[in-house]
Amino acid sequence: MKGKINICEVGPRDGLQNEKSTVSPEDKIRFIELLARAGLKEIEATSFVRPGVIPQLSDAEEVFFAVRSLQGPERHLPVLVPNAKGLDRALESGAESIAVFTATSESFTKKNTNATREESMQRIRDIFAAIRSSGATVRVRGYISTVVDCPYEGRQDPGIAADMCQELLDLGCFEISLGETIGTAVPDDIQTLLESVLRSAPAEYLAGHFHDTRGTALANVYAALQMGILSFDASAGGMGGCPYAAGAAGNLATEDLVYALHRSGYETGVDLGLLSQATAHIEASVGRPSTSRVYRALTA
Ligand code: MG
Repeated sequence: MKGKINICEVGPRDGLQNEKSTVSPEDKIRFIELLARAGLKEIEATSFVRPGVIPQLSDAEEVFFAVRSLQGPERHLPVLVPNAKGLDRALESGAESIAVFTATSESFTKKNTNATREESMQRIRDIFAAIRSSGATVRVRGYISTVVDCPYEGRQDPGIAADMCQELLDLGCFEISLGETIGTAVPDDIQTLLESVLRSAPAEYLAGHFHDTRGTALANVYAALQMGILSFDASAGGMGGCPYAAGAAGNLATEDLVYALHRSGYETGVDLGLLSQATAHIEASVGRPSTSRVYRALTA
């Protein structure tokens, strides 16, 4: 065995947020339960952004309340939190793990969060301050989007991601997920990015969030593995299309990642058969066929 790889399953939040159809709270709850049963230890459950901003996730309280007992020392259910107000809602719902987000691109943070890059970092500092004053113990995962390319600005300076990683770790994030948001990167890009980021953040604090829009996500995973990254984000069945390329794949499918890792001698703790059952459930609810090639091969 080559060792253990951590997978953060982002289907219930990042995935469903980017699907056109709205899934019922009951179907989301069942999806999360099936993902837990498949062995996933980090499942991003929902988002506590202002209700109305993302209609697909306006049932955050209801969904999280129903699944919160799945949290424990061995399994975490991070929820996305945009600001101190979102933190309050997450804590009131019983969340023990949250995820905070920013991006290297000024245009992207403006369009997505109506904030400059510095303002988005300030929101994260405010969230950490609010956690400290609440006295709660909360694991905080950081997301940095557009680390390679931005849909509005194009190529990004890897030094910006490196500086952001440093600050997010100093603030107290246990892991930083590097988001290759539009799925344009190839392994050489990931290598260039990581050469810069690894100067400010040790590999064990980093995760790769690679999109498969151009079929390069798994190749990018392998480039990152070679540089010591041991944690990757993926979405069951590849749920969540690409908002920047209609009809194209977005998140790397968890099945495709797990299959490649197992076949290469890595351990993930995920049962591919049970994972396919989670995907079959959500595929029916979303009403769009899964983009995972491994899932399609397994269920053919
Ligand atoms: Mg994504």
